[in-house]
Amino acid sequence: EIPGTAGPSAAGGKGVLRVVQLYPRDMNIYGDWGNALVLQQRIRWHGYTPELLEYNVGDPFPDDVDIIVGGGGQDSGQLVIQDDLQARADSLKELAEAGTPMLVICGLYQLFGRFFKTRTGSVIEGIGILNVETHGTDERLIGNVKVTTSEFGEVLGYENHSGQTTLGDGVRPLGTVAKGTGNNSSDGHEGARYRNIVASYLHGSLLPKNPAIADFLIRTAAERKFGAFEPGLPDDRYAELARDHAARRPR
Ligand code: GLN
Repeated sequence: EIPGTAGPSAAGGKGVLRVVQLYPRDMNIYGDWGNALVLQQRIRWHGYTPELLEYNVGDPFPDDVDIIVGGGGQDSGQLVIQDDLQARADSLKELAEAGTPMLVICGLYQLFGRFFKTRTGSVIEGIGILNVETHGTDERLIGNVKVTTSEFGEVLGYENHSGQTTLGDGVRPLGTVAKGTGNNSSDGHEGARYRNIVASYLHGSLLPKNPAIADFLIRTAAERKFGAFEPGLPDDRYAELARDHAARRPR
């Protein structure tokens, strides 16, 4: 912790929010890093002090985690992180159950579930925080996606995955697909919600175009840490431009 920046009364800020990015070295495709950057900037706009930390295979796990984000990856990247992720399963589960806000995209969404059986038949064990399972198919689901959600309005992004995910008991979908495919080619759902976890197949990256999700993560983190969230005045002009552009994209 940087001295003098830890509490709500710290000079120049409402307090520190620590964002941990899981496995950016191996799990970070289609711009997923942008999710961490958006959180960093919006935390600032809301008047808090962001600390952005990276966690890669073999690193000591950071303390005092307020928000966790993790990106997508190729099947090969998922194989690289699988053992380390298993070793972190208990602490991640504890954080999740305690209500830590988390955003997991595509490859890490799959591995926060029970397992991912790849297209070639190998099984990558997940950590089972989300009661979901994923089966690889020969069909790749690629394209722009529009999702109708009750919590975050219309969510926009881009998908590219071979794994198809089905949700089990206790997990609800993030929303219903209005364009694109989402979790799988049969039930019309995209993503998953459990406790304060938002899981999604959407890259692009997701948060620049969907600031409502970023603010959910920040609000939840601030409420947990400081007892309340005092919003600032984020500049949403670029988010609106990006949404506008994305909404007009053909499939
Ligand atoms: N490798 C996984 C799949 O193809 C995840 C891909 C991704 O993260 N975009 O389903």
